[in-house]
Amino acid sequence: MKCKICGGPAIVQLPHYNMNLCKDHFIHFIQKRVKQAIDRYKMFSYNDKILVAISGGKDSVSLWYILTKLGYKADGLFIKLGYDHQVKPALDIAQKLADLTGRKLIIEDATRYFYGKSVFEAAKILHRHTCSLCGKVKRYLMNKATIEYGYDVLATGHNLDDEASLLLGNILHWQTGYILRSFPVLESTHPKLAKKVKPHCLNYEKDIKTYVDLLNLPYLQQTCPFSLGAKLPIYKSLWDNLEKYQPNAKITFYKGFLREKNKIFKIQENQPKLQECNICGYPTINQTCSFCSARISLKTKIEKLNS
Ligand SMILES: [Zn+2]
Ligand SMILES: [Zn+2]
Repeated sequence: MKCKICGGPAIVQLPHYNMNLCKDHFIHFIQKRVKQAIDRYKMFSYNDKILVAISGGKDSVSLWYILTKLGYKADGLFIKLGYDHQVKPALDIAQKLADLTGRKLIIEDATRYFYGKSVFEAAKILHRHTCSLCGKVKRYLMNKATIEYGYDVLATGHNLDDEASLLLGNILHWQTGYILRSFPVLESTHPKLAKKVKPHCLNYEKDIKTYVDLLNLPYLQQTCPFSLGAKLPIYKSLWDNLEKYQPNAKITFYKGFLREKNKIFKIQENQPKLQECNICGYPTINQTCSFCSARISLKTKIEKLNS
């Protein structure tokens, strides 16, 4: 097995790209895929201040590392969704990465918005699905931090498997609104709405894992215990099955969508008009945003429990 680039001994097999690579060329290749996504989809420039959402998992850890390696001004954002002992392993990793990259780590404490409760407890009290409340809280606080700390763009670690699976799910249900938003760049459409980008969108999940392992980057192995009920894993395994027969099915599908999107769907940006939430001032389509609504009902329920 020889490296396609230098002819030296290859250690990584990439059937989806029909090539094998040595360690150095593989590392360079993954970083180059990130740079390609940034440039091709006009995510940001070297002058922009970038905030990377860090969960402690391999995707966000490697993204922060790669962006600083490529010379971008990228700081990290960690959202504390639970109590200290629950989030410590992930926070330790985020802090290690801050040392490694020499960049700043911002820590946002979600529990202070939930009267001291963790997001998991708040979901229980509200009888909500943990993943949906957790997702809502993360999206809200990521946006808020990007705006309030003066960053130009928010970057998340979503990889090709995430994006292809999400897109497949949305197509299977013909969720055209979501399909149109399945783009690795979401521009800001309001002064308090941050531009959002996914620079890992062209990298396979398993390649990112190989990348962090080869570089010995610290990351959290375990995925969120609450996400087991989510549908994404089903679509992911569908893709993996398909790739057994057609090793580049995922990347061909996803890149095809990015290329053909505007031809398939008439872009009628029929987006609902954004207004400012009457409580927090952040953009929403309703009078009160869903984050503030969740806080109000949580407060009522806690008061009821305590009375
Ligand atoms: Zn090589
Ligand atoms: Zn609000």
